Amino acid sequence: MRIQEILEAKCPPATQDIKLNTENRNSTIENYMYGPLNIDHPGDYWTKAAKLWDTTEESAKESLCGNCVAFDISPRMEKCMPGKVSDEHGKLGYCWMHHFKCHSARTCETWAKGGPITDNDISLDWGKRASMNEENVPTNPSKWSYWKGQAKKKFDVYPSAYANGWAAKMYKKAGGGWKTKKK
Ligand code: SF4
Repeated sequence: MRIQEILEAKCPPATQDIKLNTENRNSTIENYMYGPLNIDHPGDYWTKAAKLWDTTEESAKESLCGNCVAFDISPRMEKCMPGKVSDEHGKLGYCWMHHFKCHSARTCETWAKGGPITDNDISLDWGKRASMNEENVPTNPSKWSYWKGQAKKKFDVYPSAYANGWAAKMYKKAGGGWKTKKK
């Protein structure tokens, strides 16, 4: 574990700034259907989500922030959360895709399986990719640009963790690499 790095890592700005967090949350509601607003009374939210994902309501209800690849509830992130993080429905975590504190019982259009993030090292890697402490730059920008373009064509939703992950995988397969640049 990179203890020194973890100690020095910054908290995501939205965890410390209510206005920024609210702006990012509202933008995710507006553009990516973050919800349901009222977990106890979801209205037709899950019917719409099932339609969007071409699945059943039962299945849609299993695709939650709580098991999304971008949902960070690592110990280091929990320290960034001001105040209470849990309620009777679940808990708050940090969404690395849309940069706000989201709730484990909600979801959004760009949900991708593979979460939650419970490990400090993985949280740090997401932080780096989000360009908080340093910037990851491709060693071959034209190749990276090509695979990003392919991801835009292949996936209905772009950017998303899934589409970005795919582009990064293909870029790496094609011999591309990354280098870090201090901000
Ligand atoms: S990307 Fe994942 S963690 Fe972020 S709001 Fe959407 S479902 Fe939740």
